Amino acid sequence: MAYNVLPLTRLIEHFERLPGIGRKSAQRLAYYVLNMPREKAEDFAHCILDAREKIIHCNVCQNLTDSEKCPICSDDARDKTTICVVETPQDVLAFERTREYNGVYHVLHGLISPMNGIGPDQLYVKELLARIGQGGVLEVIMATNPTVEGEATAMYLSRLFKPLGVKVTRLAYGIPVGGNLEYADEVTLYRALEGRSEI
Ligand SMILES: [Zn+2]
Repeated sequence: MAYNVLPLTRLIEHFERLPGIGRKSAQRLAYYVLNMPREKAEDFAHCILDAREKIIHCNVCQNLTDSEKCPICSDDARDKTTICVVETPQDVLAFERTREYNGVYHVLHGLISPMNGIGPDQLYVKELLARIGQGGVLEVIMATNPTVEGEATAMYLSRLFKPLGVKVTRLAYGIPVGGNLEYADEVTLYRALEGRSEI
């Protein structure tokens, strides 16, 4: 009979369900947790529940926050006339790391994907429409990933917003440095061409 200690097996299984974690890593993490001092393990478990219970969507931009309005939307120094539309809260973090962007965001929490049965109604599109409808927005930057679904979502939303009189822009994605044109897919190449600037 195989070596099986149920609480340990269950712990390993939980870690294995996390994204990017294989069987070996799951085992390593489970043994690490087992060796934690009791207070540290309690704190870890409590932290998971606490985050799960307290994190909500900002009622303006739909980013994750623990208050009604996230710190970015509450910041008077941020430019509220420019909204950068992204797929996930992690994308907001990526833009914030650049320290170059001073506008605000809108998190869709997904992309339009007819293949997976996801339409605009399952995303936070009407909330974004309402924000634009309130006036004061001059530019909407479509910053979804340069994938087929990201492009389709950007196109759909830009058609929706243009009649409202706002400028809709798209990030210029290019060939990665060291990349080879030959191996670039058509979406990347098209965006690289479209986003070309004068040298
Ligand atoms: Zn917000």
